[in-house]
Amino acid sequence: MLRYQFDDVPEPGELREVAPGVHWLRMPLPMALDHINLYLLEDHDGWWIVDTGIAIGPTEELWEQVFNEHLAGQPVKAVIATHYHPDHTGMAGWLCEKWRVPFYMTQGEYLSGLSFSRMKPEHFSWSSEQFLQRSGYTQDQIAQSRERFGGFGPYIKPMPTAYRRLEDGHALTINGRRWRVVVGRGHSPEHACLYCGALNVLLSGDQVIPRITSNISVMGGEPEANPLKEWLHSHEQFLDDLPEDALVLPSHNAPFYGLHHRLRQLIEHHEEHLLALEEACVDGEPTAMDLLPVLFKRELDVNQVGLALGECVAHLNYLHQRGQLQRSLDGDGRYCYQSIDETLPQRLRRQHHEAADAPPIQV
Ligand SMILES: [Zn+2]
Repeated sequence: MLRYQFDDVPEPGELREVAPGVHWLRMPLPMALDHINLYLLEDHDGWWIVDTGIAIGPTEELWEQVFNEHLAGQPVKAVIATHYHPDHTGMAGWLCEKWRVPFYMTQGEYLSGLSFSRMKPEHFSWSSEQFLQRSGYTQDQIAQSRERFGGFGPYIKPMPTAYRRLEDGHALTINGRRWRVVVGRGHSPEHACLYCGALNVLLSGDQVIPRITSNISVMGGEPEANPLKEWLHSHEQFLDDLPEDALVLPSHNAPFYGLHHRLRQLIEHHEEHLLALEEACVDGEPTAMDLLPVLFKRELDVNQVGLALGECVAHLNYLHQRGQLQRSLDGDGRYCYQSIDETLPQRLRRQHHEAADAPPIQV
């Protein structure tokens, strides 16, 4: 079971202490997911900021409010970003410039952030087009994607021009306590979580979130990537490596207990999706676009389709690379998928049997 530490959330720009010297701060996001959680760690001579908020809307004003009202006269001494997505890195350049402090990130995330934040419309190339065509986009949909293509430059201040590298297993000492870097993969290339044994607290970023599931996507820049394999592997490692009773401080939703339960739920969630896709590829030879409704029951808007497609291809690449789906190119240049695993009927029977045995859903 998951158990939340609080029944409510702090107001934007307000700090709430969630463990000794560990403060939770919320910033707004201008999208369906309307907030991000940031954390401030108190050191003996200043503050460490973990993740920064997006560089549009009131984030800058709210940071000024935090500096004026909540730092007890101490400076900011370092900025850490868990991964390169703009809600996490948006204000990193501004913060590091303002305070002239070092920026900590893994190498994979720092280089990805530089690349995506500097992307231009002309980087939409034949390979971007081929990826979408192979996934089942129509020519009209490809043209629309070309129109909308661009990195996330508008949502991020220029990235810090230098960084200090975080690596899996390395530790930072903050206020005499050791925070170990635990790298997770799949949602982004080299996502840094931080675990403090003395406090039994895990800063989990987007690697473990209690209510929503993180996007696991293949993108045109690496069409044969297998991020779901990395994601599932990271979850197994976290189960081995981190204690069930840690307080988890995620980037979205709210601080919670129940780390192992949540990791297992997430593994099951993807296993169910994988099985549903295999089942959908028994008859006919669908494309990735044909298969979106198998994974996403709700209506998807134009922005969501891109992420949903990336997630669908992540599952298809996983199954294809494990030899459970055959992939062939049709006359229109689209990949079509067919289930070829002989154990599928048996696995489906088992799943249906388990579903029939399950107790009625409790509300
Ligand atoms: Zn993210």
